[in-house]
Parts: sequence; structure tokens; C-alpha cells
Amino acid sequence: MGIHPTRFLRSIDALAVIGRRPDGGVERLAFSPADKAGRDWVEARMRELGLEIHVDPIGNLLGIRAGREDGSIVLMGSHTDTVAAAGRFDGSLGVVAALEAVAALNDAGVVTECPIGVVSFMNEEGVRFMPDMMGSLYVTGQIDLDTARRIVGIDGTTIGENIDRNGFAGASDWRQRPIGAYLELHIEQGPVLEGEDRTIGVVEGVQGLTWLEVVFEGLSNHAGTTPMALRRDAGYAAGALTRSVREMAIDRGEPLRATVGSVHWKPNLINVIAREAAVTVDLRHPTSAALADAEARVEASAREIAAAEGLRIRIRRLVHAAPVRFDELLVGHVQAAADSHGFSSRRMLSGAGHDAQIMAARCPCAMVFVPSRGGVSHSPLEYTAPEHLVAGAEVLLGAALRAADVRTMRREKMNIIE
Ligand SMILES: [Zn+2]
Repeated sequence: MGIHPTRFLRSIDALAVIGRRPDGGVERLAFSPADKAGRDWVEARMRELGLEIHVDPIGNLLGIRAGREDGSIVLMGSHTDTVAAAGRFDGSLGVVAALEAVAALNDAGVVTECPIGVVSFMNEEGVRFMPDMMGSLYVTGQIDLDTARRIVGIDGTTIGENIDRNGFAGASDWRQRPIGAYLELHIEQGPVLEGEDRTIGVVEGVQGLTWLEVVFEGLSNHAGTTPMALRRDAGYAAGALTRSVREMAIDRGEPLRATVGSVHWKPNLINVIAREAAVTVDLRHPTSAALADAEARVEASAREIAAAEGLRIRIRRLVHAAPVRFDELLVGHVQAAADSHGFSSRRMLSGAGHDAQIMAARCPCAMVFVPSRGGVSHSPLEYTAPEHLVAGAEVLLGAALRAADVRTMRREKMNIIE
């Protein structure tokens, strides 16, 4: 039993036709007609595979394959919405691979102990309507339907209008059902696997993230007449903070990542000392303690810089996502599945956000990564080699079987997957 490579790769191509761009990329923004068309394609495939279909009021799409027992569902999936000018693999890979895994079970006539589910979560990307990972936030009870429906997008329309106009809503309340595990196959979206020439990333968790905004306020004055010693220069403070953030990250060392990605100066003119500078700081680390320490260091440094220059300062935390550790047993199933196929692998953390980190609040989760050429993602240039796509789907299937069928596999000496 295993993945049917031709059928699987053709399915990826078929989904990539929906919302295709002239440059070869794909665009299916959440709650748009193209997003709906992508979901309709997935739903049609679910019907072909004999799955019991559930659509909830926010538009999450789930197909269930019955098990021997009506117990906790082992979910596989990802998302089929995309950013603008996206590639064909981010999200889609995880959903199409889950469908292919079910097709492989059907081919082999295997009945698992637990039901198996294929899910395509709503609005993972969050580029049209924030927050991202909305579908899994809904499933885990972290956002309610009324709040979500009232959210206004970048085009001025609400999610509710788009759900009603494009027919996303279903009546299922499948999130009430017991969920035993969630497994997500995804492209790495980074350079590590390619750089080490490895096929599979066994993902142990997702690093934490903190976004800060630091605003320095000084005094605008003439660039030619104001002596250096008398300046209260917010622009200078922004530069000093940028340097200090970089030095702090180097001093602390990997895996801390610290970035000043945006500085806005007022009035931003060549011959005027800046009266205000708003600086953003993006901090990432796999542990809460180190993330909090980095945040405290940035704050202390910003206050020191402000005091030395005679500036007022405001510091605001814009976003905080705690680090997530995936379930050890489930991560072990991913590792065992990769090993059983002889795929080279490495343990790693995800640098990007995924539905799996949200679902981790609800059930055991793990992820499988496959290499991204050049580490490129969120671009029409996104590419993963066909053999890596197939390998990822095999590992997803193997891990799901181990999670859904531990008792069956023991009884049958694991020969169903060998
Ligand atoms: Zn994604």
C-alpha cells in the first residue's frame, strides 16, 4: 500500500489550475470566488473517495472516512486559500496529500481503527481578512462566528458578506466531535532541508513570536543651525535601536532571530531633524523564556537610547504568539514513517505559522516538511521536486496510520504498511 505518484501529482496540477495566474502562480484569497472554487474541487474529490462531508458555518471543509470504531478522528490537512501571487504548494500540498492518503487506503481496502479525516481550514493566510489561521481558531474556540463574520477586509467588505455571497457556510458543527490527532504536511518555506540535502523535516514545534513597536519622540529643528549637542533626534534613536537589536541577537546567538523591518520618520525630510520615529521589532525564539528575555532587552535598550537623547518613548506589543511544542508520540510516528521508507530526515522547528500550532491547543499535533527550492515561498517561483512531494505524502500516510491504527497494526504485525 502506498501513494500513487501519478494520480497524486496530477491532483496537485488540477487544483493549481483554479485561480491560476498568467505568471504560473496561483491566487485564491480567502472567502473569494476562487477560494470557493478550490474548495468545491476538494469537496468533489472527497465525494469520489466516499468521504462523509462536513462544512461548518465559517467554511472549514472536512471529509471523514469511517473507522472500525466511531472514536476520535485522526485529521490530516492544511489549507487551500493562498496569498496574492502565491505558488501552487503552500497549503494545497497538505490537503491534496491527505486526499491521496485516503485514496491509498481505499485502494488497499484498509479499515483503520479510528476514523480518518481530511480537512481544509478556512483563511489560513489572513492577507485579506486578519487574523490568519482563522479556521483552526474557530475549531479550537478561540474566535467565535459572530466576531469573525464582522471582520472587515482590505477591500472594505466583511467576512459575513463574502460567506453569504459565495456560499461558504455549512451547518455542520464537526468541531464538537472528538479529535485524536492533527497531522499537516507542508513545504518548508525555508532553506534548511535543501541546504542539507534532506528529504523530510520532522517538525517538533513552532517558534514563538513577539512584535513590538517603539516610538521615539523628540524635536524637529534645522539641520544646519542646531548644534549636535543640543539635538533631540528621534531619527538617530531609531538607528541606534536598529543596531542594538542586531547586536543583542548576535550576542544571544541562534536560534534567536531579531529584525527591525520598518522605520517611519516624521517629517522624513533631508534638512530637518526627525521629531518622531516609529520602529518595529520582530523577535522569534523556540522558548518562552528566551523570547521574554529578548523582549526585555529590547525595551531596556530603547529606554536607554531615549534617555540619552532626551526623547519621550512609547513601547507597544503588537502581537505575541507563544512557542508551541508538538506531541512527542505523534512526532515519533512521523519519524518512524520517514525511517521506514529510508528517507533522509532531520528534526526541526517551523519558522512560519501553521494551523497545526493552533490545533495543538485541542489535540496532539505534528507536521511533516519537504524541501522548498531556494527556500522560496509566497511566490509563483515556489517549487518542490516531485519526488519530495511524493515522499512527504508517504510520510503523512504512514504517520496517520500509526496514529489511527496502533492496535490494528500491532494485531496484524504492522504488515499493512510494510
Ligand atoms: Zn501554508
